Amino acid sequence: MTEMFKNLIAGEWAGGSQVSRNINPSNTNDVVGEYAQGSVDQLNDAVAAAKAAFPAWSRSGPQERYEILKKASDEILARKEELGRLLSREEGKTLAEGIGEAGRAGQIFAFFAGECLRLTGEALPSVRPGVGVEITREPVGIVGMITPWNFPIAIPAWKIAPALAYGNCVVIKPADLVPGSAWALVDILQRAGLPKGVLNLVMGRGSVVGQALLQHKDVHAISFTGSVATGRKVAEACIASSPMKKVQLEMGGKNPLVVLDDADLKVAVEAAVTGAFFSTGQRCTASSRLIVQSGIHDRFVEACIERLKGVVVDDALKAGTHIGPVVDQSQLDQDLKYIQIAKDEGGKLVWGGELLNRETPGFYLQPALFTETTNSMRISREEVFGPVANIIRVKDYEEALAIANDTEFGLSSGICTTSLKHATHFRRNAEAGMVMVNLATAGVDYHVPFGGRKGSSYGPREQGAYAKEFYTTVKTAYTLA
Ligand code: NAD
Repeated sequence: MTEMFKNLIAGEWAGGSQVSRNINPSNTNDVVGEYAQGSVDQLNDAVAAAKAAFPAWSRSGPQERYEILKKASDEILARKEELGRLLSREEGKTLAEGIGEAGRAGQIFAFFAGECLRLTGEALPSVRPGVGVEITREPVGIVGMITPWNFPIAIPAWKIAPALAYGNCVVIKPADLVPGSAWALVDILQRAGLPKGVLNLVMGRGSVVGQALLQHKDVHAISFTGSVATGRKVAEACIASSPMKKVQLEMGGKNPLVVLDDADLKVAVEAAVTGAFFSTGQRCTASSRLIVQSGIHDRFVEACIERLKGVVVDDALKAGTHIGPVVDQSQLDQDLKYIQIAKDEGGKLVWGGELLNRETPGFYLQPALFTETTNSMRISREEVFGPVANIIRVKDYEEALAIANDTEFGLSSGICTTSLKHATHFRRNAEAGMVMVNLATAGVDYHVPFGGRKGSSYGPREQGAYAKEFYTTVKTAYTLA
């Protein structure tokens, strides 16, 4: 029998009149579970619960918060194989990637457990004699979270952990497509000892639960990760609400990886192939635009094809799989649409792009690599969000940098070179929130800021100690001694 998973509201598990079936993209006959679809009433109850819990939680001591977050971290890490399997089963990334992501969630909770004990303020003399000034950070209040499907546990973790560490209460709406990992995370946190109402989970549709969260007057801040189109709606709703909500958006990317003539070919091919295609290319930081200098171009293309020949696309849970399926039919349709667009625009498909049959029915796509593309083609300008990458040939470093920056996005930008001069210049001049030298554009640490510029991000950075900029608000107090 299919298991039924409920929403968490005020510390109680609450079903709904409707459910969503969570389907395994490696085997569409496999139903991971049935997940409650929340209603607007449930969302309102969740916000009311968070509001009721806030006075006590915001004044709780750092030791209490540390212990809960640390306990959650311990359980996530102890169960990372099982959680990783669930993640791979619902999202389609390989088991190794799923376990890695679950482990990452555990590390994030350990980091923010420590952050509970590290929150500092400042005390300084006033310019007015006899007056003291104290600057402190306070929680923002009730934080609403809306998350995408491609990192089903890491993104909820990197939003929930700092929110709780700094004393906020949370209502989270995970992606409708992959609610299982977020459900498991919330279950762990609840059992780790969170008081009722501090963390609430309302699963369901963006247009219903998401919208209601954005419009609720008692929600003080929204942390969103997803597409640019939805992000824009989120920002507009946050500004239109009264009072206005603090907002943080992490959105798409069209991340360039520059390969110069002097690059170590092996390093460059590894960065390009893993960055563009692993996790099925479904990463906001994926190296989807490969900008390659003419002297190395043909050798690079040949070596990428050789490397891709050894890449196994199959069931995410099977040993030996390097790339799992695409997440669902609509994302697969989008990938195929862009493959056709790239062909129609004159791109040359040098590898992959075809549907694959495997033992079980799933959304299997051979990674697609295009050459002979320019930066003005749609394949270079629009985010595909699948295992599709294109190579743009350039004559020199200056042209490569100009093309790398010629995009509406600015999340991650990489260069493969053995030249210190070019690496240093690129680090300083790449218009992106994150810059990689001799590494793929994807793959980041959890203790440092994450985020982009231009159309990729809006508002304060996520992760590391910088997360406090969003999850706290500053108070300046003056006291006459
Ligand atoms: P999406 O924008 O379709 O959905 C994201 C979330 O928003 C989901 O939970 C969805 O239900 C909700 N939503 C949809 N419409 C809504 C509405 N009208 N009001 C409120 N909520 C609504 O994105 P997706 O397809 O889930 O994820 C893929 C996108 O996420 C890609 O563009 C990718 O680049 C981006 N992403 C960015 C980062 C980053 O940190 N920059 C990380 C991962 C993914």
